[in-house]
Amino acid sequence: MSRHILLDGPIQCLGGQHSPPKEVIRIINKYSKIKKDETMTKKEFKRLWNGLLTHFNARVIKKSDDELMEAIASFLDVLKIQNREAFLNNWAITLRHNIYLPFTVGDDSKITLEEQLIVLCHELTHVPQWDDPLFVLRYVSSTAHRAEEETEALIAGLEACHLLIGALPPLNEEAVKLKAYGCKKADIKVVEKALTMASIKIEKGGVSTEAGKVLRKLMLS
Ligand SMILES: [Zn+2]
Repeated sequence: MSRHILLDGPIQCLGGQHSPPKEVIRIINKYSKIKKDETMTKKEFKRLWNGLLTHFNARVIKKSDDELMEAIASFLDVLKIQNREAFLNNWAITLRHNIYLPFTVGDDSKITLEEQLIVLCHELTHVPQWDDPLFVLRYVSSTAHRAEEETEALIAGLEACHLLIGALPPLNEEAVKLKAYGCKKADIKVVEKALTMASIKIEKGGVSTEAGKVLRKLMLS
């Protein structure tokens, strides 16, 4: 589950004292050209979007189209994981191979195409997590386990963010998002540490999550 992160900005050169790896430079050059042409940007968005979904054998459903979401919203509210209204309006959720999104895919009037791909990479990380038969039980019963599962998804989002926008959001703000998942202060501290460690590799052009690897491969192809 995730709240979509609101980030914006053009693809830009990476800051820092190291030079970006060759693959990162190739991506920056390729997407600088693509971003100048709106039709090409939308076409490229579709290619990346569909490539990611195909790899994870996942499908996207708009939340407002599904009555099941109403039931889940009430369930999460009762468990004090997420507030009902906030969940219905702003949050994405993944149930096995189905990803429910609160926005229309490809419509960039409220959320940019880059942000949509970042949300997708986060949610796709939850798809294989569902293969573990204990995933739901652990997610619901323990805030520490919930934080652990979300950390992997948040890292996938950071990797996608770096690949697509060329910068990372403030990591403490990313970790604090887990407050809205009912996670405790101690859990959030652990997550922030994990994100900090991950960001060092990401800023050097590294990707460790499956979604990050697939997105990078697609962006380079
Ligand atoms: Zn999540």
